[in-house]
Amino acid sequence: MIRTGQEYLNSLRDGRAVWFDGELVKDITEHPAFRNTARSLARLYDLANEDAFHESLTVVPEGAGEEERILRAYHVPRTYEELVARRKAFKTWSEASFGFLGRSPDYMAAGIAGFLAKPELFATPGFDGSDNVRAFHRRMSRGHLYEAFTISNPQIDRTKPASEQEENDLFVRAVEERDGGVVVRGAKMVGTAAVFGDEIIVGTIEPLAPQDVDYALCFSIPVDTPGLSFVSRASYEANARSVFDNPLSSRFDENDALLVCEDVFVPWERMLVYRNVEANLGMWWSTPAYNNFVHQASTRFWTKLEFLTGLAILIAKANNTYELPPVQTQIGRLMGWLNIAKSMVLAAEADYEHTAAAEPSVHLNREMASAHRAMAGDLYPRFLAEIKMLAGGGLIQLPASGYDLRHPELGPLVAKYIRSPGHPAEERVKLLKLAWDALGSEFASRHEQYERFYHGAPHVYFPGIVRDGRPDLLEEFARTCLDGYQLDDVRGHGGDSRSGDR
Ligand SMILES: Cc1cc2nc3c(=O)[nH]c(=O)nc-3n(C[C@H](O)[C@H](O)[C@H](O)COP(=O)(O)OP(=O)(O)OC[C@H]3O[C@@H](n4cnc5c(N)ncnc54)[C@H](O)[C@@H]3O)c2cc1C
Repeated sequence: MIRTGQEYLNSLRDGRAVWFDGELVKDITEHPAFRNTARSLARLYDLANEDAFHESLTVVPEGAGEEERILRAYHVPRTYEELVARRKAFKTWSEASFGFLGRSPDYMAAGIAGFLAKPELFATPGFDGSDNVRAFHRRMSRGHLYEAFTISNPQIDRTKPASEQEENDLFVRAVEERDGGVVVRGAKMVGTAAVFGDEIIVGTIEPLAPQDVDYALCFSIPVDTPGLSFVSRASYEANARSVFDNPLSSRFDENDALLVCEDVFVPWERMLVYRNVEANLGMWWSTPAYNNFVHQASTRFWTKLEFLTGLAILIAKANNTYELPPVQTQIGRLMGWLNIAKSMVLAAEADYEHTAAAEPSVHLNREMASAHRAMAGDLYPRFLAEIKMLAGGGLIQLPASGYDLRHPELGPLVAKYIRSPGHPAEERVKLLKLAWDALGSEFASRHEQYERFYHGAPHVYFPGIVRDGRPDLLEEFARTCLDGYQLDDVRGHGGDSRSGDR
């Protein structure tokens, strides 16, 4: 048995400090900016207890008893079959939100499994976090807990290292060692789903300068830790009129928040990396952690494209354009792109790699995993644009809300003019409101930004693809072509008509 959705909801009522629109929210499970999404997340835990999904979403670790059953995302895969089993678990959960809950609990769970695959990386001179990593994994996996994370420094001055910003405490840093731990102060940006977590990882995924040692920390603390607070962005859920009018944003608005630490005490046992610039970076890139994120993210992306392609087909059918050859071209293009996204997941699994660590485990093929990042950020906006072209003005010509359909005077007017063959008004309005929520709403726009940036900025991840790849092999291959001919060949095949060569 995994903790139930209700147990998860109960755990959120812990006095966590969430600021929303000038208000310190008392209970996010009741607040209109968060409550539906909290329920959508709770539903994921319930799915794990349903007979149909229990075995695929959960697993008993080797040598453990049934009472130690964990979510599969926390499991360290040792074989190709276990990688595939993990992906099937990712797929089930992502389908529950049609791919719109990017940071469901399985995302960081897979990252933590990545740390456990190589705990020795955390044993650094001056601080040994390897046992903390093992205990961290145990605590989170056995408790079926939800780990959120903020690992990006605020966008204050990107041209300067952390220690040279206008003030010392803009980015989270260690300010004082005390008995039993460290006091930290500063902020981190864009904590997706941070307000919904049990614990939060605070760290930095991007390289820090050698002088930034005070900032080179990573720890995980409960979300209700004193001194820790979250500043929420605008809520699409709160702005939603109803589930009928805004079916996605009303239920799957996973929130993004600024994390602020005002003299937060972090016990040593919660620290994973302490004042070490290399381990601070290596924990993400030299363990399978990031690679495991991609496994979840690329599976979710594939699911989201399946949903959007299905939506495109429904829209074309509702507009009675589906059989038109140009529309078949558009649908075919979407299906082709979707198949690329799917193939990349399957190929990265099939060509899996063994993790270089003391304990045996496997992870996705690194080059193929990094290719997902290159593809998804560029493809997603094109995908949305293609469906908007297919949908036309119907996305906009919709009544203000579903109430208009029920209005005695207005309802018949709407029913007469907003319809298409085989699609009476209610059906058409329902479909196109869903489509607008997915393609054009503020929620949709946030998703476009999410797919472009959740895995970092392009100027960081494209060079990473060079670093992780084998550019030498590509260079060598191109050179074999160059080496196959000489300047003498200027007189060769096809002739050259310039007089000097005759
Ligand atoms: C919706 C959403 C959800 C997110 N969720 C999370 C989360 O849950 N946890 C988390 O930790 N982070 C999260 N992120 C943050 C994400 O990790 C960052 O957005 C990402 O790391 C990029 O950093 P940045 O946004 O500060 O962009 P920047 O690094 O400031 O880059 C923005 C642009 O500035 C230019 N630029 C900046 N610096 C340079 C440079 N040195 N060289 C060349 N060009 C440069 C480029 O044009 C670049 O595209 C999320 C982001 C979004 C949009």
